[in-house]
Amino acid sequence: MNIHEYQGKQLLKSYGLPVADGVAILKASDAEAAAKSLPGPLYVVKSQIHAGGRGKGKFKELGPDAKGGVRLAKSVADVVANVNEMFGNTLVTKQTGPAGKQVNRLYIEDGADIERELYLSILVDRTVGRVAFVVSTEGGMDIEAVAHDTPEKIITVAIDPQTGVTDKDVAALSKALKLDGAAAEDARTIFPTLYKAFVEKDMSLLEVNPLIVMKNGRIRVLDAKVSFDGNAEFRHPELAELRDLSEEDEKEIEASKYDLAYVALDGNIGCMVNGAGLAMATMDIIKLYGAEPANFLDVGGGASKEKVTAAFKIITADPAVKGILVNIFGGIMRCDVIAEGVIAAVKEVGLKVPLVVRLEGTNVELGKKIINESGLNVISADDLDDAAKKIVKAVKG
Ligand code: GDP
Ligand code: MG
Repeated sequence: MNIHEYQGKQLLKSYGLPVADGVAILKASDAEAAAKSLPGPLYVVKSQIHAGGRGKGKFKELGPDAKGGVRLAKSVADVVANVNEMFGNTLVTKQTGPAGKQVNRLYIEDGADIERELYLSILVDRTVGRVAFVVSTEGGMDIEAVAHDTPEKIITVAIDPQTGVTDKDVAALSKALKLDGAAAEDARTIFPTLYKAFVEKDMSLLEVNPLIVMKNGRIRVLDAKVSFDGNAEFRHPELAELRDLSEEDEKEIEASKYDLAYVALDGNIGCMVNGAGLAMATMDIIKLYGAEPANFLDVGGGASKEKVTAAFKIITADPAVKGILVNIFGGIMRCDVIAEGVIAAVKEVGLKVPLVVRLEGTNVELGKKIINESGLNVISADDLDDAAKKIVKAVKG
């Protein structure tokens, strides 16, 4: 689960981390009161969407010469003018895709005088099996370019879970970020506290870009991108209210109601598969034969007929889907249950695109019989290779 910047900052503030004062607003008319509650005279007006690159983003409605999604303002009136210009418009950034995202929340923050912009993130580094800090002196809006052009400027420090962040780790991070004086002093509490927040809240990513050194030498968290590990959601009922469904894919929301592992993608072949590994292999083989999957979907090991029906409905509701591939290996899952689920769903929502079904494993003969006798226009396949070829051919004509 992802949350907005202002929510991430509130969370970090509750850990005592240095975050500016700010007020999130849900309607433009609240801008003046929000700005007046801050000390001024410098303010920042920040679009709250679940995507980065806002500063360099462009509002669709405002044309290429207008300012981006993060703006400095020098008075209350300036804040209000910027809010009125931005609110409700569609911000397009490198991370939103061309459709952009509508800005329905703005965050008005006390502005900082920046000396240096640094990059810091904490993530799970699978190559070493540890939580790691990734830092760079080259923070700000172009970290992707830094990673691409000068990867030596990005430094990773992995943390031993038994000790947490040690003095040695702090020293390594401070050296990498060239911190001295008050900033180095701040770092001694900030790094361990960021790590504590990451671990306690079961985050999968905590990205602070930029972490700044201010003109007064102190450190501040200026931007915050926080993602939580969905598998640990049950441990954090307190985080549920931070979810903003309007930022999520409708199909993914529907899928989560049925506990289906579903990720929407850009292609046109809908996939219904059991097992994450088989689902990945299915997407790979679709690509191998020159087409693109419309989704990742793992219906799970012991899916019920209801779950299969729900999954099938989510796939067919996607207008981009021009063909469907059902690829099931019946281990715990029985092929006849899958067959019944598919048929129930087709009867309910109809079938307007070609459907290829490949079944293997437990009760496969019964499953095939159910499908063959259903009277549905289903193309059956013998193995994965055959299935992929058939669906790509059916879709490409
Ligand atoms: P992003 O573009 O989505 O990553 O949004 P950020 O929150 O990182 O803001 C983008 C940029 O705006 C930062 O890299 C800063 O250069 C600038 N910025 C944000 N807040 C402040 C502030 O309080 N003072 C100043 N001077 N610049 C700011
Ligand atoms: Mg940023």
